[in-house]
Amino acid sequence: MQNDFFSAEEFTDRQGNGLQTAIRHAYENSPFYRRVFDRENLKPGDIKGPAGFAKVPFTTKNDLREAYPYGMAAVPLDKILRIHASSGTTGKPIVVGYTRADLDCWASCVARICEMAGVTEKDIAQVSFGYGLFTGGFGLHYGLEKLGATVVPFSSGNTERQLALMKDFGTNVLVSTPSFAIYMAEMARELGYEPRSFGLKIGLFGGEPCSGAMREDIEKQWGLRATVNYGLTEVVGPGISGECSHTAGMHILEDIYYPEIIDPVTGKVLPDGMAGELVLTPMFKEGFPVLRYRTGDITRLIPEPCSCGRTTRRMDYITGRSDDMVIIKGVNIFPSQIEEVLAGFREVSPHYRLVLKKEKGFIRDLEVQVELTPEGFSDSYRELEALEGRIRQRLRSTLSLGPRLKLLEPRSLERTTGKAKRIEIREED
Ligand code: ADP
Ligand code: ZN
Repeated sequence: MQNDFFSAEEFTDRQGNGLQTAIRHAYENSPFYRRVFDRENLKPGDIKGPAGFAKVPFTTKNDLREAYPYGMAAVPLDKILRIHASSGTTGKPIVVGYTRADLDCWASCVARICEMAGVTEKDIAQVSFGYGLFTGGFGLHYGLEKLGATVVPFSSGNTERQLALMKDFGTNVLVSTPSFAIYMAEMARELGYEPRSFGLKIGLFGGEPCSGAMREDIEKQWGLRATVNYGLTEVVGPGISGECSHTAGMHILEDIYYPEIIDPVTGKVLPDGMAGELVLTPMFKEGFPVLRYRTGDITRLIPEPCSCGRTTRRMDYITGRSDDMVIIKGVNIFPSQIEEVLAGFREVSPHYRLVLKKEKGFIRDLEVQVELTPEGFSDSYRELEALEGRIRQRLRSTLSLGPRLKLLEPRSLERTTGKAKRIEIREED
C-alpha cells in the first residue's frame, strides 16, 4: 500500500502532524496525560519537532497497570466498542479499549502487514492465536478479512482437530506463535501426516521471539515461507511492524506509529542502528492513547533502505524483552542467547526451559534444561556426558558464565499452544 512508499520529507511532515494530534488529544482528553503534562509544566504548544517530543515523559507498563481498568481512557466509555487486555505474561493484565475509528485503523494496519508478508485475497488463513482478551486472534482476524483473505477462526488449542481442519479446508496461511507452529508439526507427524503435505505457503508468526533456528526449523518442516510480525497490546496489538518478502527485519508502519530507540538506563534517544529499548507512540489512537510507551523490547532501527523499495524503516528482530533479562552474578543474560547456543547442536530440540533459583530477591542459580531430539537421545552415558560437556562449554564462552545444564528425554517438557514459557522461577529463602 502506498503509505509504505512515502518520501522521507513526507514521513517527517506526517509524523510531525501526527505527533501533534496525539499530544493534543492526550492532553485535552486523558486525565492521566493532563496530570503528566501539568506535573512537567508542559503545554502541547511547547513541543516542537523530535527534540521537543523528547520532553514528553515516557509511559511505562506500571503506569498502565496502575490505571487498571479504565484509567487510560480518553473518550467516554460508550464510545469504546471493544476491550482487550495483555495476556499477562509478566503480571497483572493491562486493559485497552478501542473506538470504532481505532478498530478500523487497527484492521487496516494488520491488513498491510499481511499483504507485506505476501498474503492475498485468494488465500485461506487459519488463525491459531487465541480469540479472547489477547489481541492476537481478533487482531489478525479483522486484518485478514479487510485484506479479503478467507479466514478460518480456529483459535488456539485442540491441536488434533486444528490439523484435521487445516487439511480439509485447504488452509495455506498459518497464523500462530512460532512455538505453536513447531508443536503442530510434531503433532502432525505423530498423527501420521507429513507436515509438507498440508500445502502451507506462508506463516505469519508473532507474539514471541522467533530465532533464526526456529524459523529454519518451521520452514523446513512445513515447507512454508515464515514471516514474523510484531505488536503489543499496550500500543494496539499486532499490526505495528512486519516483514516483507525480503525477510530482513520488520517494516514499521511509520505513518501510524512513531518509533524511537532509547538507552534503557539513561532514557536518552539513540540514533538509528544502535540497539536499545523500543519506544512507540501511536499517533491516531482515540480510545486509550499512549505517548512514548516503553515496550521493554530490545531491538534497533535498521538505517539502510530495504531492497523491496518500501521507505518505512525496519526494526530488527527482538533480542529479548527487558522483563526477561536475567541478571546473575552481575552478568546480563537474555534467553535468546541461550537459545542460539542450543540451536547449534542438532542433538537437542528447540524445547528448552530456564530454571532460576531466587534467594532474597537475587538469582543465585540458573539451570538450562533442554530436550534431546530422538536422534540425540542415547543409552550411552558416556555419549550424553560428552554432549553435555560440549554444550556447557559453548554456553560458558557465550554467556561468560557457566550455568548448570540438564538434558531431558525427548518430549518431556510441556508444549504450548500460545506463547512458550521459557522461564521458571523457584523462590528459596
Ligand atoms: P504480554 O506482555 O502479556 O505477553 P502481549 O500479548 O501484548 O502481552 O505481548 C506483547 C509482547 O510480545 C511484546 O512486547 C514482545 O515482547 C512480544 N512479541 C510480540 N511480537 C514479537 C515478535 N515478532 N518478536 C519478538 N517478540 C514479540
Ligand atoms: Zn522490505
